Amino acid sequence: MVKCSLCGEKAIAIIPYARLRLCKKHLMEYVERKVERALKRYRLVNKGWHVLVAVSGGKDSSTLLRILSKLSKKYMFKLTALYIDLGIRVYSDKSKQAVVKLVEQTNTPLIVVNVKEALGYSVPELAWKTRRPVCSVCGVVKRYILNATAIELGAHTIALGHNLDDLIAYVLKEFINQNLGQISKLGPKTETIDGLAIGRIRPLYEVYERESLLYVLASKTPFLPDECPHVRRDSLEFVLKEQLNKLEEKFPGIKMSLARRLALNIDKYPQLQQELSKCKACGLIASGQLCSLCKLTKQALGEPMGPKLRVYIREKINELFGKQDN
Ligand code: AMP
Ligand code: ZN
Ligand code: ZN
Repeated sequence: MVKCSLCGEKAIAIIPYARLRLCKKHLMEYVERKVERALKRYRLVNKGWHVLVAVSGGKDSSTLLRILSKLSKKYMFKLTALYIDLGIRVYSDKSKQAVVKLVEQTNTPLIVVNVKEALGYSVPELAWKTRRPVCSVCGVVKRYILNATAIELGAHTIALGHNLDDLIAYVLKEFINQNLGQISKLGPKTETIDGLAIGRIRPLYEVYERESLLYVLASKTPFLPDECPHVRRDSLEFVLKEQLNKLEEKFPGIKMSLARRLALNIDKYPQLQQELSKCKACGLIASGQLCSLCKLTKQALGEPMGPKLRVYIREKINELFGKQDN
């Protein structure tokens, strides 16, 4: 039997770069400590903050919500979860079920934004109408709903479930394309732009993908193991992830050391030189006359839908908290 390096009980996980073998209890503590350390090291949350946690039902954001819910008492911040129902048939139904179970267990208020209910069309239907790839439409819709919900809620930040492996693959992809401005957004946090866009935090910045899977399994956290049916295995990002795993095998800890160095150097990457403005239709962040969601919906449906979507989200928040108390 392989024994835990800390207590001698049966080990369930080997963490090569840290040279540790861990039992269930110590594996959970190890991942929880990593998240706590990231909160402190990168100053991700302040006392009294309201954090909107974006939960997709996958292993990473489920790990995120479970751990933030433990830490919220100690560090005195408040949590609300957001699930976006994208209308990707069975996949969306199953992921929603996982999220509902998880928020019950962690006692977290949950806002569900259903894209079809709010806009009249699901994400795949909008993609079909605009002849754009589903993942690109999905990105626009998700980013908008995350930001609009945080603004309507008065949240101080949005917590995302990106893990270390995701981030390093994005960074290399942007490096290959020499989009250095995009790299500047891939650190542990981004700042709020007053009234237009709420900042984001990535508390799993130092958590390997494998560790977040081990965590949900060890802690029996509800999650959906299925992948989105639209994920493309031939994308640059996906292939980079595979290759990076081979690199990590040869050089244990290489991803972690890149992530830490990137966090130190993040200010040296040029900020994106976009003229930021207010969307003429909905008032949220835009890089021209209309924001990406208003542009997309104007093209697909003949009308910029940002304003209606904001009203829908406000109503959902009022249903959950009552009119004043959020
Ligand atoms: P992705 O953009 O799919 O790589 O997901 C990145 C992060 O966005 C996840 O870790 C979640 O925090 C959040 N997210 C993705 N999909 C959803 C969803 N359907 N509802 C709420 N949050 C989501
Ligand atoms: Zn142990
Ligand atoms: Zn807009």
